[in-house]
Amino acid sequence: MKPAPFSYVRPASLEEAVRVLAAGGGAARPLAGGQSLVPMLNLRLAPAEQVVDLTRIEALRRVEDRGTSVFYGALTPHAAFEDGKVPDASNGLMRHVAERFAFRAVRNRGTIGGAIALADPAADWLPTVIALGARLHVAGPEGERIIPAEEFVLGPYFTALGEGEILVGVEVPKLAASARWGYSKVTTKVGEYAESMAIAVVDRARRSARIVLGAADGAPIVLADLAARLLDGARPEDLAAAIRAELVASERDFAPAKLVMHTTTIVRAARDAVS
Ligand SMILES: Cc1cc2nc3c(=O)[nH]c(=O)nc-3n(C[C@H](O)[C@H](O)[C@H](O)COP(=O)(O)OP(=O)(O)OC[C@H]3O[C@@H](n4cnc5c(N)ncnc54)[C@H](O)[C@@H]3O)c2cc1C
Repeated sequence: MKPAPFSYVRPASLEEAVRVLAAGGGAARPLAGGQSLVPMLNLRLAPAEQVVDLTRIEALRRVEDRGTSVFYGALTPHAAFEDGKVPDASNGLMRHVAERFAFRAVRNRGTIGGAIALADPAADWLPTVIALGARLHVAGPEGERIIPAEEFVLGPYFTALGEGEILVGVEVPKLAASARWGYSKVTTKVGEYAESMAIAVVDRARRSARIVLGAADGAPIVLADLAARLLDGARPEDLAAAIRAELVASERDFAPAKLVMHTTTIVRAARDAVS
């Protein structure tokens, strides 16, 4: 199929992009690497009267080591993490995640900002940056604001971005050397979107732990009860019943088989993070 007709603009600055998007209302859409937007336009799943190409905006490509954190511009491609071309805030977690999804052509063009803004419930970056305690920088008609990653997604493909707002970048606090992580993903084929995915970041020396479930049929689920138990020294292998109970309490209505799969990925990720 071919897309419905749309106009195309390629602004040179963030301010101009915000202005054009705000003027277009819901009918204007930002374009990053086009890895999801272009197929959605072709299939007429994402109506757009105007496509606002962000790729000329240098401010969205900026990557900065800020001492205690690293700022990754929204246009940073997945391949830059995979190839170690950007500073690492995550003791290797972001690289590990980036090199395991889709295939290289998609990772060359797909961007961290596009992936997060899309809010596909089965995608990798969102649960990852939530587990890392990232802050999302957003620019819009009312100026700039920062949204904690875990507050960004409101539902499948539905985010806290308002009309005319652009995700500018992701600021990830640097993990301490004592922090460990675990990542477990179930897919039907290598490189496909996840059936289940869990990421655990645990730093027992600093008494900090975050365990996040992705592919959870909506926003990623942060397992606060499990985090507290791990910090108290519990072994993940002994916590399957408690994890199931925490998932049930999230009221996501998981089918029994999904509940088992999610519990398994969570136990595996948590085990790797504390081992
Ligand atoms: C075959 C295939 C397999 C894939 N497998 C996986 C996988 O296993 N795991 C995974 O995590 N991902 C996967 N992806 C997703 C892919 O890696 C990209 O992250 C995703 O398609 C977003 O691509 P993009 O950056 O080109 O954004 P685009 O397609 O350009 O945009 C995506 C959406 O975000 C909006 N947008 C883009 N940038 C911004 C911004 N800065 N501010 C506000 N809104 C913005 C667009 O308007 C659009 O709605 C897969 C994609 C393909 C095509």
